[in-house]
Amino acid sequence: MTAIENNIANLRKRILNGVAQSDRNIRDLSLLAVSKTKSAEDIRLATNCGIFSFAENYLQEALEKIALLESLPIEWHFIGPLQSNKTKSVAENFGWVHSVDRLKIAQRLSDQRPDHLGPLNICLQVNLDNEISKSGVSVADAQHLAEAVSQLPKLKLRGLMAIPKARETIDQQRTPFKQLRQLKDQINRQLDNSKKLDTLSMGMSADLEAAIFEGSTILRVGTDIFGKRNT
Ligand SMILES: *Cc1c(COP(=O)(O)O)cnc(C)c1O
Repeated sequence: MTAIENNIANLRKRILNGVAQSDRNIRDLSLLAVSKTKSAEDIRLATNCGIFSFAENYLQEALEKIALLESLPIEWHFIGPLQSNKTKSVAENFGWVHSVDRLKIAQRLSDQRPDHLGPLNICLQVNLDNEISKSGVSVADAQHLAEAVSQLPKLKLRGLMAIPKARETIDQQRTPFKQLRQLKDQINRQLDNSKKLDTLSMGMSADLEAAIFEGSTILRVGTDIFGKRNT
């Protein structure tokens, strides 16, 4: 067994454990493998274990891997900071974007989404801890942004994403995830039935149990699948 196969087996046990302890259904949870800095070969190994959703943070690096792995049925997620000059390529090459935090970026993604691909799935990144160094819409502005993004024709607003700052215990880690869940519920009260959010993109290698407890639907895991990142 390769290290990656072994890691995935252990990770799946961890996730099943978390699900069992939290009264969740495993069907409501999906695993997104974060492959930034990792090779196309590593990604191929992970597909051998049945993972077909991968996330990348850097566009140029992602495009190279997308081209190399064209023959595999991979769904690509963009999770990194997104500038205006990158939106076209993201709209053309990805199925999901988790890091939308401005209307201007969402508008460009919608305008630039090719018709034949169907709607681009979107999560709004929320800056829960109000960290100046981190991107994300503030909690106060999230509702307004969600209402505007939900109106864009080529996008499907699916939910919210957050990267809370590191906290030590599971109880401490649950606090921001609970806040994100409540924010999603609050936004849903204002959206039409056909536009309700169904996604919470939260939980990484160090805090996935806490995220499962608080209703995560997409776990974004890098290190615990691929090992330490290459620099
Ligand atoms: C790198 C990254 C991850 C994965 O983090 P790990 O701690 O390696 O699991 C998840 N989400 C985002 C947005 C990232 O940039």
